[in-house]
Amino acid sequence: MECTDHPKQKTAYLTFDDGPSENTAKILEILDLYEVKATFFVVGSGGETERDLYKQIVKRGHEIGLHSYTHDYATMYSSVDLFIEDLEKLEKAVDESIGFIPSIYRFPGGSANQVSQKHGGSSLMARLKKEIEKRGYLFFDWNVDSGDTKSYLVDFDQIIETVLKSTISKENAIILMHDAPVKTTTVQALPEIILGLKKQGFRFDILTPDSFRCQF
Ligand SMILES: [Zn+2]
Repeated sequence: MECTDHPKQKTAYLTFDDGPSENTAKILEILDLYEVKATFFVVGSGGETERDLYKQIVKRGHEIGLHSYTHDYATMYSSVDLFIEDLEKLEKAVDESIGFIPSIYRFPGGSANQVSQKHGGSSLMARLKKEIEKRGYLFFDWNVDSGDTKSYLVDFDQIIETVLKSTISKENAIILMHDAPVKTTTVQALPEIILGLKKQGFRFDILTPDSFRCQF
């Protein structure tokens, strides 16, 4: 991506964490319908059906990033070794499915999460960030939280409003959403989120290691 391609245009990065799930197919359908590409930070704990969806994500032109194999804070954030063990398990599962290991990563809970302190101490996250970078990953947090995990099932109108209120003041919006079985209202909200972002003047892009050389 050349910086000169879109020097001033506002850019939205739709990101879906915790999938694939039984909602992934619906999310992919909506993205195709609106001709929008997104980024999926995947987990590894699903079954064969879920793993098959890694391929669909890639095949349909979306970006795949790693998130966690287990997403179990108490284990993965208890030590560097257990974090790596979890990561390598996910690398293997994804590689076996799509034939390569992605180069982007998102920490469960974000890179500024508090929960890792509880399990692994106050210096753990700094060590994990170094480890992730050493292994060639670029990690991404978000600057727009859709709020879809605030409760078990957040009303879809609320999700739309939360996203569009937060993006209106931004030039680049990395939007956190969840691809999980229970998060059906996130799927419901997606078409209006896309339309609303378009109305606000956003173009859409995927997150890659090159994304922010020119964006920020
Ligand atoms: Zn997550």
